[in-house]
Amino acid sequence: MQDATPVAHPTLYGPTPSGGVRIFGQRCRQCGRVAFPRQAYGCETCGAFGADLVDEDLEATGALASFAQVHRHPGKDIDAPFVMAEIRLTSGPLLRCTLARRDAATLRVGALMTGRLQADGDAPAELRFSQAEA
Ligand SMILES: [Zn+2]
Repeated sequence: MQDATPVAHPTLYGPTPSGGVRIFGQRCRQCGRVAFPRQAYGCETCGAFGADLVDEDLEATGALASFAQVHRHPGKDIDAPFVMAEIRLTSGPLLRCTLARRDAATLRVGALMTGRLQADGDAPAELRFSQAEA
């Protein structure tokens, strides 16, 4: 199966053959730190760089660390209301992202979240997180 789904940020995440999403992170071979996004400046914990930083695909699961309901947004890329959140991925990195839902009414910090690719109309698919099914 080929990765035919166009995504909005192909250097940050992409589709899996099974219809899921993978987040493009990296692991430090010296200290084990998992980071996102991938970069070549060096490990933020121990300073290792070059061949010590290896690409690693991260699962789009984690815990809701914080969130904010956005009621007004001047940009044309997304219509308000929507919810911005920080997700602490199970693998470690903190990811700031948009949630699939547009209201924050029943969200709670610490909730298990899962990400998936969501395409609105003809726009490229974006990574959106939702509260995991209980
Ligand atoms: Zn390191």
